[in-house]
Order: sequence, then C-alpha cells, then structure tokens
Amino acid sequence: MTYNTRIAPSPTGDFHIGTARTAYFNWLAARATGGRFILRIDDTDLARNQADSIQVIHDCLDWLGLTPDAVYTQSARLDRYRAVADDLVRQGKACRADNGAILLDGGQAASWQDLITGQMIPSQAAHDLAAGQVLMKADGMPVYHFASVVDDIDLGINCVIRGMDHASNTFRHAGLYDALGAAQPVFAHVGLITQNKKKLSKRDAAASLLGYRNQGVNPDAMLNFLLRMGWGPKQDDKSMAIIDRDRALDLFLDHGKMKASPAAMDLAKLTSFDRKYKARKKAALQASDLSPT
Ligand code: GLU
Repeated sequence: MTYNTRIAPSPTGDFHIGTARTAYFNWLAARATGGRFILRIDDTDLARNQADSIQVIHDCLDWLGLTPDAVYTQSARLDRYRAVADDLVRQGKACRADNGAILLDGGQAASWQDLITGQMIPSQAAHDLAAGQVLMKADGMPVYHFASVVDDIDLGINCVIRGMDHASNTFRHAGLYDALGAAQPVFAHVGLITQNKKKLSKRDAAASLLGYRNQGVNPDAMLNFLLRMGWGPKQDDKSMAIIDRDRALDLFLDHGKMKASPAAMDLAKLTSFDRKYKARKKAALQASDLSPT
C-alpha cells in the first residue's frame, strides 16, 4: 500500500522534538511506500501564531533532511472549509447557529482501527463531544478538527501517524469522515515522549529541536534518537545499534513496530549516537586526506 502522509504543525513557537519524531515516522512511511510526504501549516488560530515559527519549521525539516513534497497553509484554504461546511448545511448534516457558527447536526463519534492499538471504540463522552460540534466558528474560522479532516481528505492523506494525545480527537475525526462520506485514513497513535516520567511540554528546553541543532548535534544522530522513541526493530541486536536513514526505510513498516507506551527521552543515548556519527565523519575525512590525489 502507498502511504500519503503529512505533518501538521501549528506555527506557535519552537519546533517540538515530538513533532520532529512524527515528521520522521511519517516521512519514513511515505518514502518506504512511494507515497507523498506533505507539510501542512495549521495556522488558523491567529492569536497563537508567531511570526518566525513557519521559518523555524522549514529550518528544522531542512536540518533533518525530511523534505516535504508539498506545503499547504490552512489560512489559504478558508474558502474551501466554508464551501464544505455550506455543503453539509445543504445536505441537512449541519446547521447554522444564530451567531453564524456552523455546527454538525447529530454528528457521531466513530471507531477506528489503529495500526498500533487496534480497534478503538468511542465512549459516551466521545459521542457527546462529537454530537453538535462546531465546524466553523462565528468569526468564520474553521475549528481544527474540521479543517484537519477536510485537508486530509482533499490532499489524499491515507495514513496519519501522530502522538497519543490526539487519540481523543480521532473519535471526532472518524465521525467527520463519515459525515463527509470519505474513507478514513490509517491512523497510528504513538506513545508520548516523556522526561522524568512526565510529558515533555513545549516549554521544556529539551523539547526544542533547534536547541540541538544550535548545540552542533549531528542530524543523523538526531534521526536515530527520534527513531528509537516509540519504535523498535522486531529483532534487536548489536547490528541495530545505529540505524541509518536508508536502513530505517527498509525496517520501519515491515520489520519494526511503533509503540503506544510512553517513550522516555534518554539524552545519554543522543550523546552516544552523536559521538558515533562524529567519529565516523572524522574517520571518513581522514581516509579522504590519506587517499592518493
Ligand atoms: N496542528 C495540530 C497539532 O500541532 C495537528 C495535529 C494533527 O492532526 O496531526 O497538534
């Protein structure tokens, strides 16, 4: 199966290390199957947007060598969300509130088959959240859930790998796919990255990807580090100590497993990968110095 994947960061500050991991996993799934890897900028929360953040997203992906095939920006697609919402109103699946907001009428949460955790069934609370959810706000902006599903359908995204913190949203999203008459993508929710048993928040210095680049960390060492947080080869042995990008492409889907359990961030591992890559680079440079000209 060809997987078309995406990452969808919001330009609200630093590029989080969890987003970098999601980017690598989605990049691997797309590249390993001949699909597309898309960058979508989720910038509809105007109050939270930060001017430099879009550049930071590009800089981080460039540093890691995870080049997207296309870039879409949600703020450029507002007409599309309005048109889809209006269509749902015409079909009687959504209704307009007095203040102009558009609400899903009698929408339901839906179950999905997660690549990692298997069949996911919505609770009553998930149904309550989904029923009557706002699609477009009174100010004409779409709600994240609606815009995200419309985009993923329009862009042909058929595989969504993201953090476990989004699993509760996915019940709603699955229901929106039903309302829009579209097939669900394959969902995979990876365990969250933790430090000292706590979720790594955006404010933690250790969460900033640029911080590692600025410290001179080798980008391939970072990719190894990211790969090992929430994924492991089915057969682990010494030959797996370092997994280059090309090898990761071979292993990621067919010979490895993504995990739902929290992934502890162990910076000593990053240091060790970094030393190994730097030693390799030095050895390669020395070999080229010695080679006859
Ligand atoms: N903008 C959302 C976020 O940054 C996107 C999540 C997703 O659908 O992958 O959390």
